[in-house]
Amino acid sequence: IERIAVLTSGGDAPGMNAAIRSVVRSGIYFGKQMFGISQGYQGMINNEITPLNSKSVSNIVQRGGTILKTARCMAFKTPEGRKTAYENLKHHKIDALIVIGGDGTFTGAEIFSREYNMPVIGIPGTIDNDLFGTDFTIGFDTANNTVIEAIDKIRDTAASHDRLFFVEVMGRDAGHIALWSAIGGGAEAVLIPEKETHIDDLVEKLMVDLKNQKTSSIVIVAEGDHGGGAFKIAEKVKERFNYDTKVSILGHLQRGGSPTSFDRVLASRLGQAAVEGILKGKNRKMVGIISNRIEFTDLTLAIKNQIEVDESLIDLVNILAI
Ligand code: ATP
Repeated sequence: IERIAVLTSGGDAPGMNAAIRSVVRSGIYFGKQMFGISQGYQGMINNEITPLNSKSVSNIVQRGGTILKTARCMAFKTPEGRKTAYENLKHHKIDALIVIGGDGTFTGAEIFSREYNMPVIGIPGTIDNDLFGTDFTIGFDTANNTVIEAIDKIRDTAASHDRLFFVEVMGRDAGHIALWSAIGGGAEAVLIPEKETHIDDLVEKLMVDLKNQKTSSIVIVAEGDHGGGAFKIAEKVKERFNYDTKVSILGHLQRGGSPTSFDRVLASRLGQAAVEGILKGKNRKMVGIISNRIEFTDLTLAIKNQIEVDESLIDLVNILAI
């Protein structure tokens, strides 16, 4: 393997730049020629492939987003699209690919690698932390820190007005951000996609809080919870419970910002391990960190084996909210 290309795909996540930098510099360290593909798989099809040197990745370790840009690309789901992508890689004599993204990105990489016998390693870059084979994905820690900073601010106004706040956080299918930020932000309750939403239980809990003279309450709602999101939950609660209720949807600000130290170090470790892995002949694997050690997991397992939510964290939210 002499020429390795890197791309970012799917949703952006803080720390992707630190991963790109690590991949590029590790590759150069091992004497390889490195290339960047813009706009994920779309750029592979459009031939947006350029050489990267050490300087190309200067001054990006601290930046959110991705300098390579990312895109969702329907054409890559078709054999014709992937054929064009392969011809472009061949034109640049690329012999291995490192993809940074989530489960969709890995699904595409797995199919492409089998079709064209192209070595590929995936790096988990998504704020959702929903991939099997790593304790943490790049961006999760930064997103949690962004969310708790917002919760802290909302808490100030909630406490000043004796209000009940429903704060909606990202997580269509996974409640990890909701759970972690509920614990870190001291929320009274949390609603996540992995669990049924029982409005009765929630109302009962909030009434007890009121009796105990809690001056403010914050309920964290993952966007994919079964109650239909923070606005719907707030409406249902208000029907039953006369309390000044407010809703705050944090939205895309959760995806931005400078990555935390944790995400930068994680991204740097995974980037280097991905390059070393591919040079040692690993293929169709995701590189992850399990119990603080680098581990490689088959892409197919990383995608399919949705990690389960840690029940003890749900218990912890409830224990600490008495
Ligand atoms: P996030 O978790 O942030 O959403 P993701 O990697 O799961 O990230 P997707 O939009 O699901 O994001 O996937 C990224 C891209 O991967 C798609 O736009 C598409 O180009 C490619 N892809 C997804 N599924 C397939 C598939 N079945 N075949 C080929 N390519 C695919």
